Amino acid sequence: MTTVTVKAPGRLELVRQFVNTRDVEAGTDLLATAGELTAWLRSARLLGPDEVAEPRDVAKVVALREALRDALSANHDGGAIDPSAVQTMNSVARDAKMSISLTADSGWTHRATASGVSGAAGSLLELVIDAMAVDSWRRLKVCVNDTCRWAFYDHSRARSGKWCSMQICGNRSKQQAWREREGTVRRRSVRDS
Ligand SMILES: [Zn+2]
Repeated sequence: MTTVTVKAPGRLELVRQFVNTRDVEAGTDLLATAGELTAWLRSARLLGPDEVAEPRDVAKVVALREALRDALSANHDGGAIDPSAVQTMNSVARDAKMSISLTADSGWTHRATASGVSGAAGSLLELVIDAMAVDSWRRLKVCVNDTCRWAFYDHSRARSGKWCSMQICGNRSKQQAWREREGTVRRRSVRDS
């Protein structure tokens, strides 16, 4: 939970907002039903006015969201993404019928060609791929506080940000460390006395 947002640049912000449709700490989820999923995807302009999400789409999109959350937690140390998260993202890419074309300037374009929710989920992956290509992806992270896991963009020069907000989770973590240290000292002094 946090009221502080650390926005990502450009369209990557949509990926951050997508991951944050679930507030881990508050236990709320903006994509809990097919109706809510339809509304969110339409507001993000990922779903046309005539397209609707079915109940079975909810599990698929939520799985993608949580796979992305796992991938973002790997961005702290550049470690490997959890294999099941990779599998989920690749399965979304397959369903979205991602098409890739090389361009004359040695670049490429890619596009999710499937319609409906499969295409919408693929469009979110497109934003991830674009961010990976320009290295802004590594700055998109989730808070290391396990009860928070809010997605934030790390604007710090050293790319060393750990928390969604220094004021909220950063302080909490410090207080926790302090309490643990104090507790250890106290326990030690009891044991030693
Ligand atoms: Zn946090």
